[in-house]
Amino acid sequence: MARVFVITGPSGVGKGTLIKLLLERIPELELSVSATTRAARPGEEDGVHYHFLDEAEFEKRIAEGAFVEHAGYSGRRYGTLREELERRTAAGHPVVLEIELQGARQVRQVMPDAEQIFIMPPSPESLRTRLVGRGTDDAEQIEKRLQVAEEELAAAGEFGHRVVNDDLDKAIDELEAHVRATLAG
Ligand code: 5GP
Repeated sequence: MARVFVITGPSGVGKGTLIKLLLERIPELELSVSATTRAARPGEEDGVHYHFLDEAEFEKRIAEGAFVEHAGYSGRRYGTLREELERRTAAGHPVVLEIELQGARQVRQVMPDAEQIFIMPPSPESLRTRLVGRGTDDAEQIEKRLQVAEEELAAAGEFGHRVVNDDLDKAIDELEAHVRATLAG
């Protein structure tokens, strides 16, 4: 069975950048495309960055048992579609799930063999700086995301491996080394 990597970390920690680099460095790795009810940001494409669903469609998929895990985050819903994950593992590709804490906990229950990695910020304040600088969320969304970030940071100890994203070059080297070691495992 192909390996599954769960990568979690607070909004603004730089997960997206790290995962993009990780996928470039380890081409056999594939990212599962999640479903969400949040609106697409400029430049995001349906089916590429997310499957953008409305609330009713998301509910329908839950009822059908289409999700491996799903969670509410900052007033929106997010979930991993079973089909997205299984199509990739069945083809022998190790898969990355970029998901928040509640989802990571659910995956821990149903897939205890999944490798769980938490990306830490160098300091809690650095998250605000990055979220404001990124400019993709309004002030209210940023405050919500920072509140959730506090809870997520408190749970970092639940994860099998932690990487501090202080210096990007060092963080990606460490993440790559850990994923390679797990794959070789
Ligand atoms: P964003 O709106 O910034 O794209 O994502 C918000 C949060 O939702 C991030 O922490 C991201 O990791 C998480 N997320 C994205 N996809 C999923 C998913 O399929 N399941 C869960 N539980 N969280 C997700």
